[in-house]
Amino acid sequence: MVAVLAAISLAKPIASNLGRGQIKPWRSFIYRDTPDSFGKLCHIRLVPLVPTRHSSINTWCTANMTIMALRSSHLEHTVMKVPSDLVVFPSKTIRIVCISDTHGEDPSLRIPPGDILIHAGDLTDPGSLLELERAYQWISKLSHPVKVVVAGNHDVSLDSTHPSFRKEAVDLFTSPKALSHGIHYLDRQVRTVAYYSESREPGKKTLQPLNIYGNPLQPDFLDTDYAFTYAPWPSSAATQAWQDAPDSASGVPIWVMHGPPKDRLDWIDIDRLEGCVAQARAIASSRPLLCVFGHYHVSNGVERVKWRDDGDGVAASKVLSKPTHAPAYDFSSEGHEPPLHSGNDTVFVNAAWMTGRKREVADRYDPVIITISFETPNIF
Ligand SMILES: [Zn+2]
Repeated sequence: MVAVLAAISLAKPIASNLGRGQIKPWRSFIYRDTPDSFGKLCHIRLVPLVPTRHSSINTWCTANMTIMALRSSHLEHTVMKVPSDLVVFPSKTIRIVCISDTHGEDPSLRIPPGDILIHAGDLTDPGSLLELERAYQWISKLSHPVKVVVAGNHDVSLDSTHPSFRKEAVDLFTSPKALSHGIHYLDRQVRTVAYYSESREPGKKTLQPLNIYGNPLQPDFLDTDYAFTYAPWPSSAATQAWQDAPDSASGVPIWVMHGPPKDRLDWIDIDRLEGCVAQARAIASSRPLLCVFGHYHVSNGVERVKWRDDGDGVAASKVLSKPTHAPAYDFSSEGHEPPLHSGNDTVFVNAAWMTGRKREVADRYDPVIITISFETPNIF
């Protein structure tokens, strides 16, 4: 036990573990905690889900703490340090409210409650620090326990490679105070929250990690001086932008991006612009359950994709019919949509708030509500 705790200082942020042939740590276990033990050091039974041969220690990170466990096929009990700030939802059915491209507006009055709010970038229009501070204000006041934010091409103050970069802007969204408001700002990172799931043994629940990946990068927009851009596909920059995205073994079911992938809600009435092929390939190979983005306002909508089970690629896709007000799509076990299955299905959401007519204030899309029952590995 002591050895495990002593090893906590070895933990590195997820991002630094990606793409180097190291373990993908957030998939290897499920945890069953003992009653009333959550939030403290606790004894748990450790069940290897995907045995790996590469390391004896698995870690993953929340915002400022590390959960870790010793991996050993003969070890039944170990110690897990559960961070006190880890958000844990009470059930596997989670309501996710998606919005994007608010471009300096405050849409709070039209944002419904939920468990997770996702803002997929373009919080601002010119991208000033003042605009970002205003966006921070309205986001921090929302009631959602988790608010995932990625930047967009307009949010130039957040891009450390852009001439308009302001460190204060990143500090604002990554501060302990932001975290206390539930804000998780992701720039090519994975963040872990968790939920309780029923096990087969009556009265027992398992604590399951729920991983969320955020990547703001998108192809250069007509050679303009935007933020978080790369040379459009085919280019080494496009490949590089997505090469560290979680793979299928990583267990990251929610991806948040600013730009759309190629062929998924990526139509725009401007020549030469389209979703990114490298991004689409990364998604096809990982097959997350939910991809949220925006950027091309006119393609606001929800599309469900079924992946081929005999190889790569899409077997079928369907743009779901869109209710005009408060569009809600329930993929949970009690929902009106067929449930989603890991590795078989992905739902794509273009959550743009702005329509194509950006300056017409009355004309906005409602946030999209997606409800998913996340699957618990069936090993009990
Ligand atoms: Zn954009």
